[in-house]
Amino acid sequence: MVEKRFYSLPDLPYGYDALEPHISEGQLRLHHDKHHAAYVNGANAVLERLEAARQAGAELDMKAALKELSFQAGGHVLHSLFWSNLAPAAESGEPKGALAEALKDEFGSLERFRKEFTLAAASTEGSGWAALAWCGMIGRPVIMQIEKHNVNVYPAFRILMVLDVWEHAYYLDYKNERGKFVEAFWKIVNWDEVNKRLEAALK
Ligand code: FE
Repeated sequence: MVEKRFYSLPDLPYGYDALEPHISEGQLRLHHDKHHAAYVNGANAVLERLEAARQAGAELDMKAALKELSFQAGGHVLHSLFWSNLAPAAESGEPKGALAEALKDEFGSLERFRKEFTLAAASTEGSGWAALAWCGMIGRPVIMQIEKHNVNVYPAFRILMVLDVWEHAYYLDYKNERGKFVEAFWKIVNWDEVNKRLEAALK
């Protein structure tokens, strides 16, 4: 029998203090080591529960299990994307090549894209994310406003960039001022990584 694999918490691609002053070391440690880790453990726990029920031939509340798996695994996937689409401010760069072109074609200008993405992040209800995604069916970038980790996600849209606007992402640094955190985000976007994700989506 194949050994079944589980999710694991990825290391950050930079030091815990690398995003300062935009995201403090304390905030980043809490977010990665506690919150992200909890989604990894939560997703694995659901997989284990499903497995145990299979082994025992037991009944399951499928609806509850799958709703939870979608939430926990969604949290893990989005946080993993988030860490790698951030970079120290000195390495942030700017949209280039195919990405710069796609954003200009869709939004008219990079400024307009930035404005719409900022509005999406600012107005996400409760806990959630703003995401830039690529729809291969029409060959256009689309902004998504994800509630929790899994609501309003479009099947098969490739995610190019995400911004976590759960309070746990910014509360230590910015208290209730989500707008200040979103402004800071623009200084630490890893545009090379976002470019690469688009190139992969275009292949
Ligand atoms: Fe988070």
